[in-house]
Amino acid sequence: MDNKKICLVHTGGTIGMTRSERGYVPKEGYLSTLLEEISDLKVDGMPEYDLYELSPLLDSSNMAVTEWNRIGEKIASLYDKYDGFVILHGTDTMAYTASSLSFMLENVKKPIILTGSQIPLCEVRSDGRDNLITSLLIAASGEVREVCLYFGGKLLRGNRSMKVSADGLLAFDSPNMQPLAEAGINIRYLPTVPPPETDLPFEFCPFSEVPIGVLKVFPGINFSLFNVVIAEKLKGVVLETFGSGNIPGEGNALLPIIRSAFAAGAVITVCSQCPEGTVSLGAYAASSELVSAGAVSGYDMTTEAAVAKLYYLFSKGYSKEKIKELMETNLRGELTK
Ligand code: ASP
Repeated sequence: MDNKKICLVHTGGTIGMTRSERGYVPKEGYLSTLLEEISDLKVDGMPEYDLYELSPLLDSSNMAVTEWNRIGEKIASLYDKYDGFVILHGTDTMAYTASSLSFMLENVKKPIILTGSQIPLCEVRSDGRDNLITSLLIAASGEVREVCLYFGGKLLRGNRSMKVSADGLLAFDSPNMQPLAEAGINIRYLPTVPPPETDLPFEFCPFSEVPIGVLKVFPGINFSLFNVVIAEKLKGVVLETFGSGNIPGEGNALLPIIRSAFAAGAVITVCSQCPEGTVSLGAYAASSELVSAGAVSGYDMTTEAAVAKLYYLFSKGYSKEKIKELMETNLRGELTK
């Protein structure tokens, strides 16, 4: 591990924040002074790293396409120079950014690990110290060469991860896939199915600003209120349905909307509100018509991954038929069919 060099990119988030009268805020240049105080970062066995700070540092609730592209671009510009990457990021939208990077960075063959903390490094009980140190060690080990997220002792596939606790220190999970590794006394890498292999060279595909929407159905939803938005304004829609893909009213109120949205070039992906398990269109009458109307199954994809994948596929300029086909295809280990 001695010669390994890691690129540490600071994007903002709690881990590097400082106290202010308005609550915690990001502060330019502050993280390097915090890192200076962690003597363990310099002990034998720790990889060397260079710190890059993005500007402006952001609370991750303010991140979207522009910021994902900025992070992706930074990694792409330094890809050949480093053995691995650790991205410090706010926890609120970390799973979205991890999902987005997993698609926009094509043919990744190096570890790219997002991490952060629930308590800032400047506080005594910060969880940031372990999250950072373990992420650096995992990145340097080169054992897992894909976009992942390390938090609270678990290394998760980035596009399978979700934030599951607003205030717990074990804040992330990947309910539809076991962790890639667990960090207890030792770091234990677990046997998992890797993302589809490719021999193609690394490439960066920035996202375009595509109108994407997420609609969570609920008992009593009046679909007609969403008609114009779904059928005329959006290119990609993630429908968060009940259970295995069920829609109230046996989906009937939604069918004409889906049909006209599809005719207008939109792709509607059916995901589940349940964190665990898969969508199975056609298992009940309540979902069987959705497919014939033009919707696609998101299988066991998280909403975060489905949103990121829609951005990616529309940014590639594919036709809606191709996007439909690829939404149901495992591209980066994001779904199990
Ligand atoms: N609001 C913060 C953020 O996502 C929360 C955190 O980092 O834990 O940037």
